[in-house]
Amino acid sequence: MSAPIPAAKPALRIIPRDEHGISRRFISPNALRVLYRLNEAGHEAYLVGGAVRDLLLGGRPKDFDVATDATPDEVRRLFRNCRLIGRRFRLAHVIFGPEIIEVATFRGNEAAEVGEGERHVVDGMIVRDNVWGTIEDDALRRDFTANSLYYTVADFSVRDWTGGYEDVRHRVLRLIGDPATRYREDPVRMLRAVRLAAKLGFRIDDAAWEAIFALAPLIAESSPARLFDELLKLFMGGHATESMRWLEASGLFHELFPGTARALERSGELKVPPLIERALEGTDARIAEGRPVTPAFLLAALLWPALEAALSEDAMAHRDMHDPQLALTRAANRVVREQCERIALPKRFTIPMTEIWQLQRRFEQTQRRRAMRFLAHPRYRAAYDFLVLRVEEEPRLAPLVSWWAALAEAPREVDGDGPHVSADPLAAIAGAESATDPPERAPGRKRRRRRRKSGASTPAVVPTGP
Ligand code: ATP
Ligand code: MG
Repeated sequence: MSAPIPAAKPALRIIPRDEHGISRRFISPNALRVLYRLNEAGHEAYLVGGAVRDLLLGGRPKDFDVATDATPDEVRRLFRNCRLIGRRFRLAHVIFGPEIIEVATFRGNEAAEVGEGERHVVDGMIVRDNVWGTIEDDALRRDFTANSLYYTVADFSVRDWTGGYEDVRHRVLRLIGDPATRYREDPVRMLRAVRLAAKLGFRIDDAAWEAIFALAPLIAESSPARLFDELLKLFMGGHATESMRWLEASGLFHELFPGTARALERSGELKVPPLIERALEGTDARIAEGRPVTPAFLLAALLWPALEAALSEDAMAHRDMHDPQLALTRAANRVVREQCERIALPKRFTIPMTEIWQLQRRFEQTQRRRAMRFLAHPRYRAAYDFLVLRVEEEPRLAPLVSWWAALAEAPREVDGDGPHVSADPLAAIAGAESATDPPERAPGRKRRRRRRKSGASTPAVVPTGP
C-alpha cells in the first residue's frame, strides 16, 4: 500500500492576516505564549488543526494544538511546565494550570510501512508514527483539509498545503489523499468525518462519504479504547442527535453497536427507536443548558434494544424463567460483554447503566414504604428518567410515570395503591412468567415476604467490563 502523498511537493498558499480575519483575541494567551517562545528559540511553530478551523469559522476553540519543528525533548527544555506523553504519538504537553497546550513535532507519514491487511494492530492501524518530518509531510498526514491549516505568529498568516482554506469557506470535509487508503490506515477517521460533519454542520465530500459505505466494517479493527473516546466525543459533545443521523446514514451505527443494530433489524426497524432518539435529544439539551450528563444513561438507552433481544432469546430458550431479576442480570452481562468487544466501556459506566435497567422493575412496587425507599435511592432519578423514555414505545407505562411523578412531588398526598403496570421487560414477552414466579399482585396489598431475596434489594451485579 502506498502512502497518499503525491510525489510532487504540494503547493503552499499563504493567506495573509487581513484576508483570513483570525483575531488573536480568540486565541488562548497560553497558546500564544508557546508559539512566541518556540519562535524566539529559533523554531518554527504553528497553531494547527481544529483550533484554526474553528477560528476561521468564527468560533472559540476549546483546545489549542501547536505543531513545531522542535523535537519533544527540545520542547521540554524550553518549558519548565512541560510533560512528555503518548505511546502512539510522542507529544509534549505544556501545562498552564487547567489548560494544556499540546505541542507535536512535525511528522512524516509512515503509511508505507503498514502493509495491506496488516493485523498487528496496536491502537489503530498505523502502529508507529514517530518519524519526524517537514511541515509539508505534517500537513499531508492529517485527516481532513479543514484540519490541516497552520497559523503562525511570525507574520499572522495561515499556511495551507491542501486547499483547506477554501474547504472551510465552503463548509466541506474533504479527506487528504485517497479516501479508501486514508480510512484503511485509520478507520477511526470515518467516525471523525461524521462527528465533525455533525458538529460543524459541514457536508462530507462525495468521495469521502462513499468510501465509508464500503469500509464501515473496518471499525471493528480499531482499538476498543479509542472507540470509547470517540464515542464520548460523538455523543457527549452537544451534537448527539445530529451525530446519530450521520451514523445511521453511513452504516457506522451498525458497526459501533452490533447488538442493538441486530435487534432492530430483527424487529424490522429501519431507524433507531424513539427511546434512543429522546435520550440523545435529552443529552444535547442538558449540555446546552450546562447541566451534567452521564454516559451511563445514554448507554442504557443505546443498548436497551439489545437487552430486550437478549431477554427474549432467553425466554424462548426457557432460561432463568423462575427469576426475572436474575434473567435480567444475565442478559445485561451478555449485552455488556458483547458490546465491550467493540467499544471498551469502563465499568464506572456499565455498572450504573445495568442498575438503571434493573431498577425499572421497582417502579411496579407501589406500596408506600417500598416506594418511599426507592425515592431515596441514589439512582432513582436516572431510573425514573429512563422509565419516562420508555413510555413512547410502551404507553401502558404512562399511569405509572404519573403516579411516581405525583409521589415525588407530594409524597403525603399519594396513597400506596398506585396503578399496577408491570415495568418488567420480561413481562412483555410471552411465557415469561413461569409457574415458579409469583403472580403479579395488586400493589399495596399485604404480601408475604418471599424467602428468596430478589428484586428491590438486590444490589447491582457487577457486569464484566473491560
Ligand atoms: P475537535 O474540535 O473536536 O477537537 P479536532 O479536529 O481538533 O476536532 P482533535 O482530535 O483535537 O480533533 O485532533 C487535532 C488535529 O489532529 C486534527 O484537526 C487533525 O489535524 C489531526 N488528527 C486528529 N486525528 C487524526 C487522525 N485520526 N488522522 C489524521 N489526523 C488526525
Ligand atoms: Mg481539537
